[in-house]
Amino acid sequence: MIHYGRHHIDEDDINAVVEQLRSGWLTQGPKVSEFETVVANYVGARYAVAVSNGTAALHLACLAAGVDEGDRVITTPNTFVASANAAHFVGATAHFADIDARTLNIDPIALAEECRTLGKVKAIIPVHFAGLACDMQAIRIVAEKYGAIVIEDAAHALGAEYHEGGRVGNCRNSDMTIFSFHPVKMITTGEGGMITTNSEVYYRKLLRLRSHGINKLDDPFEHRDDAYTDGEKNAWYYEMQELGFNYRITDIQAALGLSQFQKLENFLDRRRALSMRYDQAFKKSGNVTPQQNEGRQLSSMHLYVVRIPFQQLGIRRHHFMSRLRDYGYTTQVHYIPAHYHPFYRKKGYLPGRYPVSEQYFDECLSLPLFYGLQEASQDHLVACIAELLH
Ligand SMILES: *Cc1c(COP(=O)(O)O)cnc(C)c1O
Repeated sequence: MIHYGRHHIDEDDINAVVEQLRSGWLTQGPKVSEFETVVANYVGARYAVAVSNGTAALHLACLAAGVDEGDRVITTPNTFVASANAAHFVGATAHFADIDARTLNIDPIALAEECRTLGKVKAIIPVHFAGLACDMQAIRIVAEKYGAIVIEDAAHALGAEYHEGGRVGNCRNSDMTIFSFHPVKMITTGEGGMITTNSEVYYRKLLRLRSHGINKLDDPFEHRDDAYTDGEKNAWYYEMQELGFNYRITDIQAALGLSQFQKLENFLDRRRALSMRYDQAFKKSGNVTPQQNEGRQLSSMHLYVVRIPFQQLGIRRHHFMSRLRDYGYTTQVHYIPAHYHPFYRKKGYLPGRYPVSEQYFDECLSLPLFYGLQEASQDHLVACIAELLH
């Protein structure tokens, strides 16, 4: 069975993990900061903090940014629920702004409109859907007007580039960027995530929040009498000054991440090449419309998404997907609009609220795309789709 996404693990990855296990450092060792440095340098951000997963990264980014009880956060409906849930983790509420049908990313005009309606907005979480960067300059302008913090959800977009140049995660137009290293994402650590930022204040806060809220680096102590003996710092002493979590990543995972990172450019090249093969194959198909196809070289190509007018064709998507499964291919739907989920529906978001996302959802399908996908399988899948639509 060929799935829509899949990790690629080679002998180097296995050796890196085995070597790490032999090194004696399982967690809180030097591999984590090595991994952070490599990713920070690559994306062009000053700081990076690795955490246990991308959702934890979103949670910590919201906490570090001071998103709080009663605050409003705007994200896109076309995302994995974690982007919106992060607001609720800290007692804020998620709001949505519809997508641009061409980019499938949050529409800066709809975002400006939503900000105007809400009046006060604490944070904006744009998502670089499928690996295509959002228009961050436009989003930044809206954010500045409302004094909102910007947290980029780049779970799909390690290795992607902005239209105006620079790698996603450089935070030139945002406060923080989060990444995910789940196996279907660009590189994997099993589970894992990272936050990049150029702010030392956020960086230091993220380091504390990742580990119970305990002081890090040269954070000053509040209880100096307990911290020092005759002016000398007590080696055993530490202070928890705010409520944090255990969202640490292990050194075993960081070792895997570093090894995976060495293959990132190959992963990107392959994903882009396979995407353009799909584009070529669907060129003459009237019913299969590749999405975001102007951005292949800038996108990290996490997903290959097409639109098929199922309703017009009198086909149920479920049946279509089942037939593809019979042929050996598992496709997926990215995404069920976040506001369709019962949790958000109960908050008053009715269907019809974000029509562009909803119409897109009715027609979208993610086809298999990953480093190890064989061209022969791709050709066979294209043929199967053509046959089913005939
Ligand atoms: C995968 C994903 C996340 C969450 O990452 P995890 O590492 O699975 O917690 C967040 N946002 C988006 C858009 C994602 O695709």
